[in-house]
Amino acid sequence: MNRAQVLEEIRQEILVCPKCDLCESRITAVPGSGPLDADIFFVGEAPGQQEDLNGVPFVGAAGKLLTSLLSMIGIEREEVFITNVVKCRPPDNRDPRPDEISSCNPYLVSQIALIEPKVICTLGRFAMQTVIDPEMSITRSHGVPVRRSGIIYFPMYHPAAALYRGELKQIMKEDMLRLKALIDNEKEK
Ligand code: SF4
Repeated sequence: MNRAQVLEEIRQEILVCPKCDLCESRITAVPGSGPLDADIFFVGEAPGQQEDLNGVPFVGAAGKLLTSLLSMIGIEREEVFITNVVKCRPPDNRDPRPDEISSCNPYLVSQIALIEPKVICTLGRFAMQTVIDPEMSITRSHGVPVRRSGIIYFPMYHPAAALYRGELKQIMKEDMLRLKALIDNEKEK
C-alpha cells in the first residue's frame, strides 16, 4: 500500500469511527485535508458547525481568517495539511474532553507520521497542549518554535479566538510572519 492509500485508509476509518461519544452527535467526521507532501501541518481543536456539515476542516469564519493569514505570507491553503485534535464536533462547540482527545489522538499521530511535515503549527491551547506539551501556556508560547525529534512545532492562537478578541488578529499576523521566516530559513538549510 502506498502513502496516499494509507492516508485514505485513515480517512475512511475516521469517517465511521465509533471510539468516543462524539460519534453519536456528529453529522460528519472531519478527517483533515491537504496534500501528502505538505511542509506545514496545522492542528486545530475540533470541527465546528460548518465543518460538521461539510466534512472539511476550517470552512467557517475562523477558516477564512486562517486562509487570509496564509495568503498574507504567500501560501495557498491547498499547500498545507489542516486537521484537528478531535475529528468530530463536540456538541454546542464545548471543549473536547480528555478521554475524547486521547481516543482520537492515534489518528493525528498516524497523519503526522505519514506526512512528515517540516513544521507542525498548533492553533490554540488544546492543540498546543496535546501535540507539544500539556504544561505550555499559549500566552507565553505563541510564536516561539519548539524543536523536538527533527520536527519543528510552532504554536499559534486559534483563529476563532481572534474573531472575538480583535487584538489577537494582529498577534496572529506577526506570528504568521515568524512562521514564514522559519520556513524560509529551513528551506535554505
Ligand atoms: S472524535 Fe475521534 S475518536 Fe471520537 S468518534 Fe470522532 S474520530 Fe472517533
